[in-house]
Amino acid sequence: MMHQALSALRWQIDAGIDEAVDEIPRNRFADMPKPSDPKPTGERHQGNGRAPAVATATADSVLQSAREAAAACRDLDALRHALAEFDGCALKATAKSLVFGDGNPAAPLMLVGEAPGADEDREGRPFVGVSGQLLDRMLAAIGQNRTGAYITNILPWRPPGNRKPTPAEILLCQPFVERHIELVDPKLLVFVGGTAAGTLLDRTEGITRLRGRWLAWREVPVMAIYHPAYLLRQPALKKDAWKDMLAIQQKLESLG
Ligand code: URA
Repeated sequence: MMHQALSALRWQIDAGIDEAVDEIPRNRFADMPKPSDPKPTGERHQGNGRAPAVATATADSVLQSAREAAAACRDLDALRHALAEFDGCALKATAKSLVFGDGNPAAPLMLVGEAPGADEDREGRPFVGVSGQLLDRMLAAIGQNRTGAYITNILPWRPPGNRKPTPAEILLCQPFVERHIELVDPKLLVFVGGTAAGTLLDRTEGITRLRGRWLAWREVPVMAIYHPAYLLRQPALKKDAWKDMLAIQQKLESLG
């Protein structure tokens, strides 16, 4: 029995579930409707597989409020405050911290990652865990550090259990990260991983196709690179990441 409980716990930890969201465990299977239960009123006429009209209207208005809140910010302090006040994204309720940004906002180089993990959530700073340490080493290899660069993420709140952000969460946070880039106004952007690159470049190709060449975000040169968490799992790809870092170094030199 004890052995089974321990292996179940180990399985959860391996799957990235390292925190309890509720204080008391809940049997969610018991909450599920039984096949014989009547459908709740209101869902009965929604047999077309589309989201109910009211839910769509609410999602649209939350997105609109995110856009308006982000657009109204005149500096980074205002943006941080606007995010802290924004209640439209459910991730805020489960995260411990708002992970806004780190480094030097006056630097020419800005990096955008995916979302905070457990370490970042605990410290309130992006890229401080193991993948952050590898990112720091990648920057150091081209003579950079967080004094010469600024770092943020697409999402400022940690998705529970380090799961992938959903498209809806990304969509809601996008106006804020775009305003973040506008306010920092970097000379060169690095999108760290496929989520950042695909979202901000509005591309459907994976990171393998997007990396290794110069792209642009509204006129600003962009290099997309493999996410360090991916490089930790696929060390053979480090040689490609090294080429990308060298290209970033050269471009920074050419931009003065
Ligand atoms: N991965 C990210 O994309 N961002 C972080 O801040 C940490 C890990």
